[in-house]
Amino acid sequence: MVTEKTLREALARYTARTGMTLHDPVAALFDMDGVLYDSMPRHSIAWKQMCDENGIAADPDEFYALEGRTGASTIDILVYRQFGRHTTDEEVRRLYARKSELFKAMGRPIVMPGALSAVEAVTEEGGKPVLVTGSGQASLLESLNLDYHGAFPADRRVTAHDVSHGKPHPEPYLKGLEKVGAPRDRAVAVDNAPLGVESASAAGVLTIGVRTGPLPAGSLLAAGADTELTSMDEAAELLRMIFNM
Ligand code: MG
Repeated sequence: MVTEKTLREALARYTARTGMTLHDPVAALFDMDGVLYDSMPRHSIAWKQMCDENGIAADPDEFYALEGRTGASTIDILVYRQFGRHTTDEEVRRLYARKSELFKAMGRPIVMPGALSAVEAVTEEGGKPVLVTGSGQASLLESLNLDYHGAFPADRRVTAHDVSHGKPHPEPYLKGLEKVGAPRDRAVAVDNAPLGVESASAAGVLTIGVRTGPLPAGSLLAAGADTELTSMDEAAELLRMIFNM
């Protein structure tokens, strides 16, 4: 449950680690997979099948630990581990296209329960939502307009195509701040993956970790989150408090 104490502790932790004070928040940076969409189980299945088809050994659960990386980075890690060499651009294109095709075939993406309320909590209090994802999955990016009623226009999206360094590097979240001209002490980030939390935390924004998958309790705090919640419904409550400050 989210209380005033949750908010106070998150603000205190943010100040202790950055030396800054969150004030007059103007932007909320949202990760996509595992935050806006309940898409991770399908991603995991699609990655595993693509690996099976290409003679790459993989465990379906390891994709939760790799989550946040760009597709190219994930493919390079898998190929290097299996074959002891780095990928070629052609191979990345081919394997990522196959993984994307398998993912898309699983049907219409599932909106994460509570996520629409979380986005609305921000817009209703005058804040701007910004998408910050390592994904380049066209089928999901296209669904956003419909599912989130235009809350993420094209000029407020950072995707795999916009960055040279994916998460856990801070670049994606720093680019997200740039998109709306927000200083880092006037924005918050919401991410579900350890590498995503690490990226947001390193970018210097107050970082809300939301454990929507099978990770153990405390893993997002350990990655640098200022608070760790267990659902997007809780994130909606906390965001409303923050944008009401
Ligand atoms: Mg995610």
